[in-house]
This record gives sequence, structure tokens and C-alpha cells, in this order.
Amino acid sequence: MLTHSPKTVDELFLITNKIKGSYLFHAGGTDLVPYLKSSSDIPNNIIFLNRVTSISEITVHADSLSIGSMVTLDQLANNPLINKNCSTLADAARLIASPQIRCKGTVGGNILVDNRCHFYNQSPFNRGSHGECFKAGGSSCQLVPSTKSSDHPTCRARSVSDLVPTLLILNASLVVRSADLERKISVRDFFKDDGITRNTLKVEEIVVSIEIPDQECSFVKYRKLRIRNAIDFPALGVAVGIKKSRDLSVAITGVNTAPLFHSYQLSDFSDFEQMVAHACSEGKKRIKPLKQDAFPPAYKKLMVDQFIRSMISEY
Ligand SMILES: Cc1cc2nc3c(=O)[nH]c(=O)nc-3n(C[C@H](O)[C@H](O)[C@H](O)COP(=O)(O)OP(=O)(O)OC[C@H]3O[C@@H](n4cnc5c(N)ncnc54)[C@H](O)[C@@H]3O)c2cc1C
Ligand code: SF4
Repeated sequence: MLTHSPKTVDELFLITNKIKGSYLFHAGGTDLVPYLKSSSDIPNNIIFLNRVTSISEITVHADSLSIGSMVTLDQLANNPLINKNCSTLADAARLIASPQIRCKGTVGGNILVDNRCHFYNQSPFNRGSHGECFKAGGSSCQLVPSTKSSDHPTCRARSVSDLVPTLLILNASLVVRSADLERKISVRDFFKDDGITRNTLKVEEIVVSIEIPDQECSFVKYRKLRIRNAIDFPALGVAVGIKKSRDLSVAITGVNTAPLFHSYQLSDFSDFEQMVAHACSEGKKRIKPLKQDAFPPAYKKLMVDQFIRSMISEY
């Protein structure tokens, strides 16, 4: 395997143009390296992003905040601008993994973190004992054995990024670049309901930055369910946002194949309480928990209601 360490974005795309196809980007490596250890599909080239300084900065613009994709979770959690302008994002970063992982793991890597399934995220030895599933190139799914390759989604591995729910509430966009094109895509349109392809990023594209517009929400909170308060991925993560107009939005991670986002206008309900009750009942209906971790699916449904109500009680 060859490694490359470009210092600029332009240099990076000169490399990708040369080695077309067989490469992966390495940001902090906290998700990628475990993947490479257990995968049989190893690329010929790894392109390290850590020397590309232009994508490692947090900057304020007239009406938005820009977070470089290579900003680490630790930098995000401790940055004064982030703590002043969107403190819930800093709070969510502090809930990720462990201090050591937060020092290496990046914001871009977190948004692109692979979906989790307890059958797939195992050693090759363990996986060999029950046969490879769709995600590993096999022809079955151990989690939902009735799944056929023609079904959609084929893979029900759950999306697990802790930052994404808050980014959905904040209506953030991703600035994405390939050799000859830069595009901006809303985080709300970025994810796919499939545990294998996961999102709309193309192989030849990198995430340059995350743009957060001036806040529409006067209140944003995130809560996470997990067994161990350090290290564990979210078994369920719920963010709520309340605008000055008292419209409500809810985003959920850790359960479905893609993160969920929904917004509610106060004018469609008789009062605020009725809107909250509706959001809780919709949240419970929308999540499709499978037996994927220590929490029974019915418990996760109860906790969606509990999380939404407890966060809103702080409003
Ligand atoms: C023990 C453990 C516990 C964890 N707990 C949590 C948790 O609680 N919550 C959570 O959300 N995550 C958790 N993680 C996952 C991971 O550590 C974080 O999501 C982290 O932010 C990933 O960032 P990274 O820079 O290390 O990504 P990497 O591993 O470097 O990359 C992840 C993926 O994104 C791609 N990529 C990264 N940056 C870019 C870019 N700029 N452009 C294009 N592609 C890119 C890589 O090619 C790779 O496919 C955990 C991981 C471990 C090992
Ligand atoms: S849900 Fe996806 S990762 Fe899990 S066993 Fe099925 S195909 Fe594999």
C-alpha cells in the first residue's frame, strides 16, 4: 500500500488524478483504520489529509460560520467561537468516544463515519463464522435474514454520527470538492437510506468544510443514549431545536440507516404542547430499531419521547 501526504487541495487532486480509483482518504483514521483492519477490500493508496492546512480552520463570515473538515473533535469542543455561537455542537463533540479519539478524530470523518452493525463490525474470524453479508460483498443479511438483494435498503446498519443531528437542526451545508468542481449540499439532503453507500459523496470528492448559517434556532440541545458514558457510539441520539417563532425541529441518529430530520410549525397546532406531543409520537413511529445493541427496540422508542420532552422542558 502506498501513502500520500499532500499539503494543498490542488496537490491532493493531482494525486487522485494520477492514481484514479484505488484510494481512500485518511483524516484522523479513528474509523478508517479499524475498517482497514477488518476489511478484505484494501485500497492500493491511502491519501492523508492532515497536512492540508487550509481545511483545518474555523472561520466566521458575515452570516455564517465555517468549520474545516479537518478540525478535530477536541478543537471543536474547546473552540471559543463554537462555544459562543453553537454551543450544542461543542457539547455533542464532547460526547463522542474518548479524549484520545477526540484528539485524532475530525469533524469531516464524523459526518462520514461508517454505519454500524454488530454482525459486520467484527474481526474477519468472527465474520467468517456466519458468512459474509451484503455489506462485505456476500449474499445475505444476518441482521434481517429475510432481506433479498433486490430489497431497499439492502443493508440496515445504523447511522451513528453524534454531530449530524445538531448539524441537521442548525441547517448546515457541506462544501464538497472534486478536481474540477466545488458544490454545496445541505446536510439535510446528504444522507442515503442505505447502510452501504450511506451518502451522496462521490469517490473523487472530499469534504472541504461545514457551513453553519446564522442561527435560526434560539434553543438547541442534543442527548445521547449509551451504556458506557465514554467510548460508546450512540444507541440513540436526539437533537431538538426551537426557533424564535417557537417552531420545533427534531433530528435522530443511532437507529435508522440514515439520520432523521423533521420540522413542525406551531401554526399547524392548537398550542406548543400539542406540537410537542405530535413530534414525540412521530419520532417513535419514524425510528425503526432492530435488536442491534444492549437496548431493546421498544426501550429506544420510549427514550425518543423521553429525550424530546426532557430537552424541551429546559426551554
Ligand atoms: C472506540 C471508538 C469509539 C467511537 N465512538 C464514537 C461515538 O461515540 N460517536 C461517533 O460519532 N463516532 C464514534 N467513533 C467513530 C470515530 O472515531 C469518529 O466518528 C471520528 O470523528 C471519525 O473521524 P476521523 O477523522 O478519525 O475519520 P477517518 O477514520 O479518518 O475517516 C472516516 C471516513 O471518512 C472519510 N473521510 C474523512 N474525512 C474526509 C474528508 N474530508 N473528505 C472525504 N472523505 C473523508 C474517510 O475516507 C473514511 O471513509 C468511535 C470510534 C472508535 C474507534
Ligand atoms: S444490516 Fe448490513 S452490515 Fe448488518 S448484517 Fe445486514 S447487510 Fe450486513
